Amino acid sequence: MRILITGGAGFIGSHLAESCLEKGDEVYIIDDLSTGDIKNVRFLQDNPNYRDRLFIHINTILNHDLMLELTGICDQVYHLAAAVGVQTILEKPLESIITNIQGTEKVLEMCNKFKKRVLIASTSEVYGKHTHAPLVETDNIIYGPSSKFRWSYAASKLMDEFTALAYHRKNGLEVIITRLFNTVGPRQTGAYGMVIPRFVAQALRNEPITVYGDGSQTRTFTYVKDVVDALTKLMASNASIGEVFNIGGVEEISILDLANKIIAMTASTSRIQLIPYDEAFGKDFEDMQRRVPSTEKLAQVIGSAPDKSLDFILNQVVDFIKNQ
Ligand code: UDP
Repeated sequence: MRILITGGAGFIGSHLAESCLEKGDEVYIIDDLSTGDIKNVRFLQDNPNYRDRLFIHINTILNHDLMLELTGICDQVYHLAAAVGVQTILEKPLESIITNIQGTEKVLEMCNKFKKRVLIASTSEVYGKHTHAPLVETDNIIYGPSSKFRWSYAASKLMDEFTALAYHRKNGLEVIITRLFNTVGPRQTGAYGMVIPRFVAQALRNEPITVYGDGSQTRTFTYVKDVVDALTKLMASNASIGEVFNIGGVEEISILDLANKIIAMTASTSRIQLIPYDEAFGKDFEDMQRRVPSTEKLAQVIGSAPDKSLDFILNQVVDFIKNQ
């Protein structure tokens, strides 16, 4: 099978590329390295078993001719290229909206032209301000005002979902939409704000752990290889076509408890530093207070759902950062 992965040099994309190569697929990556990193895939290029089956294009998904060529030759498309991380959205709002909306439109246009099955990576951000748990794919959605730019990410990804579903309804395009909850694991960088790599790096250096707000906000974390497993199984299933799926982890934890857990786990002398949101992100910021997925629909279709414990995930991240 020939697989196109947009954003394949990113954290999740590179794990997906590795999994496809392990299965014997030919993998085509397109990535503009805006938040991806060539280091994420260099070890795959260096592997003699994979070298001849891996083709990397450092380019933008807005490049019409290249996307035409790549979509034409591939059998299936995973669309993971997107603006990543709350920090990126706040620092580069316009680029982020363009990447998410125009980029996804381009991918869908190409997949529709060649009638290729496409999986779109959306995000748990689309749920907006809900605090009930668990979040179900059919839930209503509430966002903050347009003056608060965080919600532009949610709105742009929601537009991506609508566009994909419209292609499915109107043209019969085989689309699958996945809402990824906080995904964690080796190769994720803290550079775009992601909490676990940041806290682990801070703890290992015995620096203050930067908890935003009062730390009462909660998250569940998903191990990246569980995410990849779910993505590939959804891609292989006909029951997933035209449907939206949560992909998320199992243990809800507050960010303050997470900080304390990481300090204990790394035997760090770090202290916790509470940083008000407006200091961290400016006055127009709103956080999501709680985000817990229902993965019932996912489990019904693929027979399993992410189940790695937070301890397991944290151990993987600690080992990775220590060895860097
Ligand atoms: N967070 C934090 N300190 C950091 C980075 C993040 O307290 O140095 C918090 C952030 O405000 C959010 C949670 O950790 O409540 C998860 O943040 P992340 O950016 O990883 O993902 P999000 O869920 O916001 O997309």
